[in-house]
Amino acid sequence: MKLVAAKNDDQTGALIAGPRLGLCLDFANTLAGRGSLRVESLHSFSDMAGWCRAGDLLSQAESERLLNWSRTNPVEAVSAFTEAIDLREAIYGIFGHLASGRDAEEAHLNRLNRALKEAPARGAVARIDAGFGWRIERDQTIAPSLLAPVVWSAGDLLTGKHLGRVRLCANHQCLWLFYDDSLRGKRRWCSMQACGNRAKTQRHYLRRKAQ
Ligand SMILES: [Zn+2]
Repeated sequence: MKLVAAKNDDQTGALIAGPRLGLCLDFANTLAGRGSLRVESLHSFSDMAGWCRAGDLLSQAESERLLNWSRTNPVEAVSAFTEAIDLREAIYGIFGHLASGRDAEEAHLNRLNRALKEAPARGAVARIDAGFGWRIERDQTIAPSLLAPVVWSAGDLLTGKHLGRVRLCANHQCLWLFYDDSLRGKRRWCSMQACGNRAKTQRHYLRRKAQ
């Protein structure tokens, strides 16, 4: 089912911005605290649509249409949601393994490749806002299409020159993935405010205890 047929000039299809670097890592991090008490932020198809809307992967109108569709097609919506979570875990698996010096598992790579194949082709560029985006034919009721920028981002990050900057947070309770954009490339924590400060406080505590 095609939910979008936006018109621009004389061409049909949706216009979507290219993925920013690390978008796939943000998606993988929707399950937080992987090393301790896991905190899931995606419990349903509507949560997933909400995440896509918040990240500008969907317009407001697209999001509303999609939520209406999910209400009238609950079985298909659950299936798309399950597929999205499966894809998320494969993405986390690939980058988590690579960031910790291990090789990516074939099963995870195959899962990503299936999504890349099912995601809409980036066939044409077109003007969008002040820059350019991709014109795609998009069926948002299937996960690889709804999450197309996430899927592209995973493929681009994996094959591009920035792969060596993907890190796992050094806080073993957190284990968030992040892209290290620091000058020296020595960042250890997903965020200094959260995990970095916790580590500093812990070191301080241990030093005082040893005195
Ligand atoms: Zn962290």
